Amino acid sequence: MFTLPKLEYDYDALEPYIDAKTMEIHHSKHHNAYVTKLNKAIVDNGIDENLSLEELFAQMDSYPAAVRNNGGGHYNHSLLWTSLSKQTSQPGEELAQAINDTFGGMDGFHGEFTAAAMDIFGSGWAWLVVDGDKKLKIVHTPNQDNPLMNTTPAEKQGTPLLGIDMWEHAYYLKHQNDKGEWIKDFLQIIDWQKISERYAEAMK
Ligand code: MN
Repeated sequence: MFTLPKLEYDYDALEPYIDAKTMEIHHSKHHNAYVTKLNKAIVDNGIDENLSLEELFAQMDSYPAAVRNNGGGHYNHSLLWTSLSKQTSQPGEELAQAINDTFGGMDGFHGEFTAAAMDIFGSGWAWLVVDGDKKLKIVHTPNQDNPLMNTTPAEKQGTPLLGIDMWEHAYYLKHQNDKGEWIKDFLQIIDWQKISERYAEAMK
């Protein structure tokens, strides 16, 4: 059975970029509900309980919507919590080089990532991924879909390094309708050391 991961920091640790109340509700209510409903969907549908999220995503088209929505919800939020820190950090040498080559530098990355997040209509996530050609790419997916799912269009598939939650529950208490400010705040608290580790893993 899947379990809600503990946060590596307190709910107020990312203030003022993410307020404590939003963090608490997001983790203890929203994420928790995805985990509970995912476990229920796996039992209700007689799915092998030993399958990992990645294994479920690889055959997403053969499972019901409850597995897709809640499995995505569990994975996406688990990745999100472990992508954030208020300690300033820089991408490692290899990731920094790839960001330069692909986006022309960190400003270029910020611009493209912001544009992708703003382009989402309704709820969804924008992602930095390593694609099948081992290139960095920015994509966005609706609802709780992600780039690992085989239901995601091929050109949006890849290994996620970083994702921003563009559901209103992620930012509405603090930023209300100002999505741009949410994205700006989010970009201030990326744990680039973590993202660099994921990049090295994805490039193996
Ligand atoms: Mn969320």
